[in-house]
Amino acid sequence: MPETPASRQRRIVDLLQTHRTLTIHELVAELGVSAMTIHRDLNRLADAGQVAKTRGGVALHGRSPGSANAVASAPMLCATCNHVVPDRTAFIVQSQQYGLVAACCPHCGLVLLERCAPDDLVLVTDFLYGQMVSAGSAAYLTGSSVSTCCRPGILAFANRTDAECFQRGFGGVIMTLSEALEHLRTRLTIP
Ligand SMILES: [Zn+2]
Ligand SMILES: [Zn+2]
Repeated sequence: MPETPASRQRRIVDLLQTHRTLTIHELVAELGVSAMTIHRDLNRLADAGQVAKTRGGVALHGRSPGSANAVASAPMLCATCNHVVPDRTAFIVQSQQYGLVAACCPHCGLVLLERCAPDDLVLVTDFLYGQMVSAGSAAYLTGSSVSTCCRPGILAFANRTDAECFQRGFGGVIMTLSEALEHLRTRLTIP
């Protein structure tokens, strides 16, 4: 049975009563929904004053002085190019060093990865279905006829089969994460 946003938000508050603080990753695992959905729920709860978003997670309001309000509930901005992050192409890194950071698309996300630790949790939005999937196992399509916010445009898919399906209509070259990183390095100078 699909859960309503309101009942899911109540569960988040219940979970926080037990755990005090939770990371986005823990909420994704616990509730079985995408990180973007969690973000929307948290923004709603933060607007209602029920929770406080913290660096990389969330706490019950008032339980975590100092870290509360470190992250505004405004729309997420790309850590690479500073544009608003669209749901369709969001790229999210749960970084040990920087907390939760987002990029507007796989292009900016891959640039971001250059600054992250190898064991950071990295999620990318599947361009066909809008689910967050692990960036390491996703397939990347470069040079297709679909233009995205950044150039060279890179689209991400949950797996190679989906990418191939899309490639038949829109062209481009399918790459793994490391191939896409290499491709970007040759097109840009990443410091
Ligand atoms: Zn960007
Ligand atoms: Zn972009």
